[in-house]
Amino acid sequence: MKRTLFNAPRTFKGGIHPPDFKKFTEGNPIQMYMDPQEDLVFPMVQHIGAPCKPLVKKGDECLRGQIIGEAQGWVSSPIHSSVSGRVKDVKPMLHPNGSKVMSVIIENDHMYREVEGMHQSHDYHQMSKEEILSIIREAGVVGMGGAGFPAHVKLSPPADKKIDAIIVNGAECEPYLSSDFRLLIEEPTKVVEGLKIVLHMFPEAKGYIAIEDNKPTALAVMRNLTLEEPRIQVVALKTKYPQGGEKQLIDAVIGREVPSGGLPADVGCIVHNTDTVVAIYRALLEGRPLMRRVITIAGGAVAHSVTFKARIGTSIRELVEAAGGLVCPPSKIICGGPMMGTALFSLDVPVTKGTAGILVFDPAEDHITRESACIRCGKCVSACPIHLMPLMLNQFALDMDWSSFEKYHGMDCIECGSCAYICPAKRHLTQTFKAGKRMIQEQRRKAAAEKGGSHG
Ligand code: SF4
Ligand code: SF4
Repeated sequence: MKRTLFNAPRTFKGGIHPPDFKKFTEGNPIQMYMDPQEDLVFPMVQHIGAPCKPLVKKGDECLRGQIIGEAQGWVSSPIHSSVSGRVKDVKPMLHPNGSKVMSVIIENDHMYREVEGMHQSHDYHQMSKEEILSIIREAGVVGMGGAGFPAHVKLSPPADKKIDAIIVNGAECEPYLSSDFRLLIEEPTKVVEGLKIVLHMFPEAKGYIAIEDNKPTALAVMRNLTLEEPRIQVVALKTKYPQGGEKQLIDAVIGREVPSGGLPADVGCIVHNTDTVVAIYRALLEGRPLMRRVITIAGGAVAHSVTFKARIGTSIRELVEAAGGLVCPPSKIICGGPMMGTALFSLDVPVTKGTAGILVFDPAEDHITRESACIRCGKCVSACPIHLMPLMLNQFALDMDWSSFEKYHGMDCIECGSCAYICPAKRHLTQTFKAGKRMIQEQRRKAAAEKGGSHG
């Protein structure tokens, strides 16, 4: 791995430099919002993998910490109630991903009665990897950077993959979002302890806490805290988008390239988001399942930008109200960051394990403009962090030429939005690629089902 300047912030090739707008959010300490007034909604899909099966029915009483959604199989993760109260209904409700998803609705009794056995602290030093994995799995810990990959699956790479690097992703490269930054400076020992738990599971590995250099306070706090930790290195990253993308992060931190279609474990690495390692800490040392998350509410259409710690299931509309409410009709609502987030048509969705932020934009912030013809300037090619040819992929997708789309590695697109952001013709590149990838995945699923059927 070539590094010309030892202390220079590390980065990857490609990417873009959108304004980070962190000044609106980074200076606001985390506010506790732990007594939600409206009903809580728990979608049975809060992770990648099989949806959970509801374990409660209308009229049941439930306790805080009780499993209300049972994991279905290995790639799945249980869902716990974050309050005590009565189950009002179990029915499909609007999910932040825009679809309707089977959900458990609970009327909060505001007593926060807990299931037995919570708050049990474990001495992980005396535990085997399997015992730790089992606790992380039962606690419903999933990747909280947005993808929602169950943490116990990530932490169980195939036996032939030797893991020698664990990276805590503190890049938070999406504009506006500051929930990870606030966690890094307000709960730094939990981040470090969470990483140490993972390092205990992988005794050959070194730990890295990777933070963009537009967060000097977080870098300083983490460096101070890890002075006596020989297995942990704090790495400054250049502020660039999408620096927090898993492949780009691995390239920047340890100089390894994840192969096309491959996983971080293929290059000996596991990446966890900041809030995920805090959730691992809480599962092992505080005996708490994943029931809350830190979430940024920002944008010109909301009175104040606030970073809340809120119970999973809390209504987003209620959080927006708690941030002072709307000051004008929003022109756009985004769940997540402005680059990779999902557009929402309503604030009536709940906080889920994957909700890092809600942005409520006013018309002045709405950057969507009308598409014009591609001028073949090549800017999208230079910006693509994984070296694709967005202008060609766009043409293939518009022609519905899916075999060429695949041949030119369209399925490797991480949907980061860098090409669309930089494009002077405002081509809707990312949207087209998202739709194209979904189409190909559907075709593959159908082909596999037909093949399976013909054997039956
Ligand atoms: S950046 Fe836009 S205009 Fe330029 S080549 Fe790419 S698609 Fe065409
Ligand atoms: S959205 Fe896809 S094609 Fe566009 S820059 Fe990101 S990875 Fe490359």
